Amino acid sequence: MRNVQQRFKMHVPVAIIGAGPSGSLLAWMLRRKGIESIVIEARSREYVEGRIRAGVLEQGTVDTLIAAGVGDRLKKESLHHRGVCIGFKNEHYILDFDKLIGRGVTVYGQQEITKDLLSALDRENHNVLYEAPATMVEDLESETPTLRYTYEGKECELTADFIIGCDGFRGVSRQSIPASVLKTHDLVYPFGWLGILANVKPSKEVALFSHNDRGFALLSMRSESVGRLYLQCRNDENLDEWRDDRIWDELDARLGAPGWTLERGEITQKDVTPLRSFFSEPMQHGRLFLAGDAAHIVPPTGAKGLNSAVADINVLAAALINRIQNDDETLLRDYSDIALSRNWQVQRFSWSNTAMYHIFPESNSFTRRMQDAQLEYLVSDETAQILYAQNHTGLPFAHKPEF
Ligand SMILES: Cc1cc2nc3c(=O)[nH]c(=O)nc-3n(C[C@H](O)[C@H](O)[C@H](O)COP(=O)(O)OP(=O)(O)OC[C@H]3O[C@@H](n4cnc5c(N)ncnc54)[C@H](O)[C@@H]3O)c2cc1C
Repeated sequence: MRNVQQRFKMHVPVAIIGAGPSGSLLAWMLRRKGIESIVIEARSREYVEGRIRAGVLEQGTVDTLIAAGVGDRLKKESLHHRGVCIGFKNEHYILDFDKLIGRGVTVYGQQEITKDLLSALDRENHNVLYEAPATMVEDLESETPTLRYTYEGKECELTADFIIGCDGFRGVSRQSIPASVLKTHDLVYPFGWLGILANVKPSKEVALFSHNDRGFALLSMRSESVGRLYLQCRNDENLDEWRDDRIWDELDARLGAPGWTLERGEITQKDVTPLRSFFSEPMQHGRLFLAGDAAHIVPPTGAKGLNSAVADINVLAAALINRIQNDDETLLRDYSDIALSRNWQVQRFSWSNTAMYHIFPESNSFTRRMQDAQLEYLVSDETAQILYAQNHTGLPFAHKPEF
């Protein structure tokens, strides 16, 4: 017979799966409104806080974190980028978003946001269970769905009024929606990104996106002394074949322009990330709601994943607060449609940027010439630059909870 432990409470108003940015932000926003939740996280706290991923924040994300009271360190330590630089035919072109539309982007590591949120939850003694993988969610169409998870080697379960799947692309929540309900849309790209983290002063004041015959390359930074740089690579690239010198030489070849020097430094981390566009619809089934990477992922070319997660959580937090405190279900009922409609636009921008910058294995002289035409238009036409700036710095968030 199964040994089921009912830890903490038998029943919580909101059970959140995943303590990444989506889950920890939602728990924090609800907490600030006095709404109880529990967060169930599969990995250790050290792992969650150490995961180096996103670093480019839209203004909506920055405003959200500051309004929610977790923006103090961000305000002190982040960098403002007035725009981006486009590398094309061995020239560098600055797109100055501050001048074009009056706003740029903010650079602050995702791991720092996660630390800020988890520390804030800690200070309030919030229930966050680490190393507690959720194994199943069920009875989603009932008023008290069940979440099963393991903790300290035991099978546990709880019921909740609402279960929120913030468990990333490979989590259990999306998979528990019946196949007859869930539609998925997927595009796997025939390349990935070889990323490095390096102790090096950035060689540009803003991120440099470079389209080159040898493949795409990106120079970005996490701080004044830490660079994050990427090379388009094969999905099955063997990192053992990439000595540090070879990586810097290749970055130089793809990013270079006359009169400009790429600073080199100690490489502290190397990884390969496959690129994928994916979204599922709807983002809700019964009492289960999906947010962030659990519902959609984008190739990192547009720097949108984390920002989309924050956009989802804004709507979902406002909707749950309305439902739980004011008994008003309108926004919660519309959550999936509202979140999806912004997400399609984010998917479009990330997909079209990926197509414009990368070299595809199946490309021919026509598709290559079209990429050149797109980039020539972008670096020379102000209207094209305004549209790019609006998308890169972020589309408006549909709803925000008031704090
Ligand atoms: C290399 C790279 C660079 C990126 N750069 C950018 C960028 O510049 N800008 C940007 O906006 N986005 C970027 N992204 C995307 C961004 O990191 C993600 O979109 C973001 O992490 C999504 O947050 P999330 O909380 O929804 O999911 P996640 O961060 O994936 O968190 C999900 C959490 O759920 C936990 N979990 C999973 N399964 C279970 C389970 N069964 N039970 C309990 N817990 C579970 C996981 O351990 C994890 O902690 C990048 C991603 C990568 C990989």
